[in-house]
Amino acid sequence: MIIEPKVREYICTTAHPKGCEESVRRQAEYAAKKGVTEGTRKALIIGCSTGYGLASRISALVNCEAATLGIMFERPANGRRTATPGWYNTAAFEKLSREKGIYARTINGDAFSEEVKAQTIEVIKQELGCVDLVVYSLAAPRRTDKEGKTWSSCLKTTEKSFTEKSLDLRTNEITEKTIPAATEEEVLGTVKVMGGEDWADWIEALSAAGVLAENAVTVAYSYIGPKLTYPIYYEGTIGAAKQHLHRTAAELNRHYPGLRAYISVNKGLVTQASAAIPVVPLYFSILYKVMKEQGNHEGCIEQMTRLYTEKLYTANGPVTDGNGFIRMDDHELTEQVQKQVQEAWEKVTTENMARYCDLEGYWEDFYHMFGFHYDNIDYTADVDPDVKIGSIS
Ligand code: NAD
Repeated sequence: MIIEPKVREYICTTAHPKGCEESVRRQAEYAAKKGVTEGTRKALIIGCSTGYGLASRISALVNCEAATLGIMFERPANGRRTATPGWYNTAAFEKLSREKGIYARTINGDAFSEEVKAQTIEVIKQELGCVDLVVYSLAAPRRTDKEGKTWSSCLKTTEKSFTEKSLDLRTNEITEKTIPAATEEEVLGTVKVMGGEDWADWIEALSAAGVLAENAVTVAYSYIGPKLTYPIYYEGTIGAAKQHLHRTAAELNRHYPGLRAYISVNKGLVTQASAAIPVVPLYFSILYKVMKEQGNHEGCIEQMTRLYTEKLYTANGPVTDGNGFIRMDDHELTEQVQKQVQEAWEKVTTENMARYCDLEGYWEDFYHMFGFHYDNIDYTADVDPDVKIGSIS
């Protein structure tokens, strides 16, 4: 099959197996340059197949030589439909682990469910004994809770509607976007899906089953961003969920004395989850331009290797701010970066976009996520979309 990208606004409905393998290979190659650190030996990565979770898994393997058990929700190829990129990434990751002779197992299923939690515990008991690191990196549109109620998350403001410049991803033009205010039910739904409740459920289940190593560490990923995006992000429905996640970290630290729970506040980056947030893609394309010019731009793998090798596993313990957060957004939020972003934001129009936005960089990251636009892959060649992984589903 010849696989081409089919882009619909902020999603691509096809993925290229060879391109996804290339993406994993390049990430592993970058991580390898940072050397091996004493860190996790056995890691559970919840949300392991794309974005920050995938980069975390690669860094755990390459920088810590850790055995990894990954949880994801992905779709294999079916007839003329390609698999999702997360599926192909995971096949490539498992291959990499095999080449290194290091354990990797993946469970494909709904991480929010009791069944997947039970299955994970069973696999840990049978194959690993325990885990010393639990990474929580889910980004999901909905969650069915223990009581069987399905909640949906949304990307809205929490007070009044908000109008701001936005990048129309269909036309690459600057338009204005009005984001409506959420109802109380919508705020609650977003908190239920993207807040800390399920993270706490995971820790409770793992702890009760006795599969958390002594002094285990758990890290969940958050985003805060600059004041510019507060109305849609940090003070919006998703921010309400993230603030719940932050409170959950504090609760986990109180409830489980042997465990250390951290929030890692990561940099804003193009991923499948973030591309769907209004206003944010324009901010990202300006941010990319500014940070590349200043020489401090990072992608998921640069962020995650820095997290593991310089912030989480250090001789003096994790490097945190006054709130106990690990700040991987430290470069993004410097005054030097934000001042320039703010100036560009005020001036940018469709006509002068090339001067202020790294639109090319934005779209390059976007296509790479689906395994496209790698210069060393022959996209005219016939490729088998049916790739097997050793997953349990
Ligand atoms: P992503 O969409 O690339 O990854 C989401 C992962 O969750 C995938 O592995 C997917 O398979 C998995 N997943 C989704 N629903 C699932 C389910 N029901 N069961 C099992 N697995 C499921 O997203 P991302 O941007 O890497 O986000 C990961 C985390 O990082 C999120 O908490 C996000 O808020 C946070 N974060 C993202 C950014 C950013 O700019 N992208 C910045 C800071 C923090």
